[in-house]
Amino acid sequence: MTHIGRFAPSPTGPLHFGSLVAAVASYCDARAAGGRWLVRMEDIDPPREMPGAAARILAQLGAYGFEWDGDVLFQSGRLDAYAHALETLRRAGNVFWCRCSRADLARIGGAVYPGTCHAFTAPRDDAAVRLRVPAGVVDFADRVFGPQREDVAATVGDFVVLRRDGLFAYQLAVVVDDAFQAVTDVVRGADLLDNTARQIVLQRLLGLPEPRYMHLPLALNADGSKLSKQTHAKELPTPADSRLLWRALAFLGQDVPPEMPPAPCAEILRHGVGHWSPAAVPRTSHMRLA
Ligand code: GLU
Repeated sequence: MTHIGRFAPSPTGPLHFGSLVAAVASYCDARAAGGRWLVRMEDIDPPREMPGAAARILAQLGAYGFEWDGDVLFQSGRLDAYAHALETLRRAGNVFWCRCSRADLARIGGAVYPGTCHAFTAPRDDAAVRLRVPAGVVDFADRVFGPQREDVAATVGDFVVLRRDGLFAYQLAVVVDDAFQAVTDVVRGADLLDNTARQIVLQRLLGLPEPRYMHLPLALNADGSKLSKQTHAKELPTPADSRLLWRALAFLGQDVPPEMPPAPCAEILRHGVGHWSPAAVPRTSHMRLA
């Protein structure tokens, strides 16, 4: 089976060093296996998006020497597919329409949805759609973090697949598109490790194949704060500063020359592919940058 990896940024801001780490790892993993590497723009949450970020991200990827296979898939063009998946879930009695507000749920206490709106199995206005999560443990083997087990019904409960504001939830869109693009290997930041069991629940209910998963340590600033678009992490400069690719490979525990010699981006990526070792990726959820 052809190995198919992907990089799936949300256009909430330009790429920063943390996103470069995910791009480098997914790229090297796919290319080292002789596989395909796809880019998917996860632009289904307009309120969180930054105008121009999608174009900026693609320009940054190009500047850092990444070559993706085929066209970029924009999730904003995939709403019919998500609606179709939702309809499949509805027909099987796996969703319900919920008008509970965050405040309502906080009042009755706890993070796990208490089942208040289970009876509303037909569409109604001004409601979120939640998945009726079946009881049972989901097992999967993360390629870095090892065996994982989660009973999603007990830890998260019935989660939202279509938001009350009419936007599809990330969990639904990501499983529909990973299957649509025949992704075999999901490689992404460890902040999504605890979303994976939810995604597997959805794959099972929708009859979709389950990819392999590999989660990567998240980069923290030297002061321990998370490097993210929300905290305005420094954007990757263009023209490219190719040393950042060496630093991303070193962050991933990969074999890099100690002096990190100046080199064109494409050459550093070639080195990364040629020496790619998933086993060397540190098994830790967060790592500080020096
Ligand atoms: N779009 C998500 C993000 O930028 C990543 C989704 C994924 O890799 O599954 O955080």
